[in-house]
Amino acid sequence: MLNWDDPLAKFKQPAGTTNADAERYARAAAATEMLARLEPEAVAPAKAMPATTPAPQGAEQAGATGLEQVEFGARRLAVDDKMMINCRADLNQLVPFKYKWAWQKYLNACANHWMPQEINMTADIALWKSRDGLTEDERLIIKRNLGFFSTADSLVANNLVLAVYRLITNPECRQYLLRQAFEEALHTHAYQYCVESLGLDEAEIFNMYREIPAVHDKASWAMRFTESLGDPTFRTGTPEADQRLLRDLIAFYVVFEGIFFYVGFVQILSMGRRNKMTGVAEQFQYILRDESMHMNFGIDVINQIKVENPHLWTEDFQHEIINLIRDAIDFEIRYARDTMPRGILGLNANMFEEYLQYIANRRFAQIGLAEQYPGASNPFPWMSEIIDLKKEKNFFETRVTEYQTGGALSWD
Ligand code: FE
Repeated sequence: MLNWDDPLAKFKQPAGTTNADAERYARAAAATEMLARLEPEAVAPAKAMPATTPAPQGAEQAGATGLEQVEFGARRLAVDDKMMINCRADLNQLVPFKYKWAWQKYLNACANHWMPQEINMTADIALWKSRDGLTEDERLIIKRNLGFFSTADSLVANNLVLAVYRLITNPECRQYLLRQAFEEALHTHAYQYCVESLGLDEAEIFNMYREIPAVHDKASWAMRFTESLGDPTFRTGTPEADQRLLRDLIAFYVVFEGIFFYVGFVQILSMGRRNKMTGVAEQFQYILRDESMHMNFGIDVINQIKVENPHLWTEDFQHEIINLIRDAIDFEIRYARDTMPRGILGLNANMFEEYLQYIANRRFAQIGLAEQYPGASNPFPWMSEIIDLKKEKNFFETRVTEYQTGGALSWD
């Protein structure tokens, strides 16, 4: 156990120690001496902590970050002090909750906890290694999707942690963002686990976003938005800056997680439905469950920002967002054609075009914009069943996808 008054005490030689101990103490003392020369601060006796930490430079221009000085004697927090962006109230106090939906999503996400290595990959490994178990087109679908997703979830995680988190000024939403960031890490872990299990060339898969145009285009489309907010000097607080944040949230939650993931989800899950690559498909099924919650959380945040800042939702801005989503649909249609040059598994690229227009209509409606593709219908009704799955066992007969952790079970 460390002695908190003198953390180096255990390296000082007490009386009656053995030679081996003495040698260890001598080495530790020499190392401490060297450290003292190089970095005197690191071994100096602890000074009394200042009562407050300095506010970050420029913080007064924007909402709070949570790093402000702790104001002694300040009044207690009220629900009405809270706001989604540009809020100056203390961000380190989780309660009282204002956005109960955000807290509920955090609880639901924790209850859905899963780990990639819990999924049995044996059948996939055998099928992948068998000479004629899969066609070349099926192998292309698996590799292209692992290629796209393996870096896509890192892009989302970086966007959350390095760009979005700082600018969302609400603790219950930040609590969900922290959980979401962990889930993005889990998803990247899941793709790595698939690559490793199948013995794929990891450089080929992970570098695909720099080698294959249809994968590259989607990734670089998203990077534009992250780069803008990731600029450490960026502050919200003006209508232009707040629109930039709103645009990034729409780009990531509505387009990247809400549209760019869906061709891949359909392709992989449809293989699973045909009893092929069921382990990979089950990984994707859990990821889809997480991702639909990420998207719904993002949409709630976007709509809350609109409610609190109606001046941001101008006609021009709405047109910009409509064009943004329409462009994204074109990118995703190109991705569908690239991953599926010929019809396969009862699917073809034209069906994806219709599916993406159907999805886009739903996304437009979810953020209060008019549907842009009249009459588009869903050629994959089984996808909605999977997304809405509540109680049924999953179709791979392994375990229920609404599996929840013990702490989330109800005991009454
Ligand atoms: Fe996500």
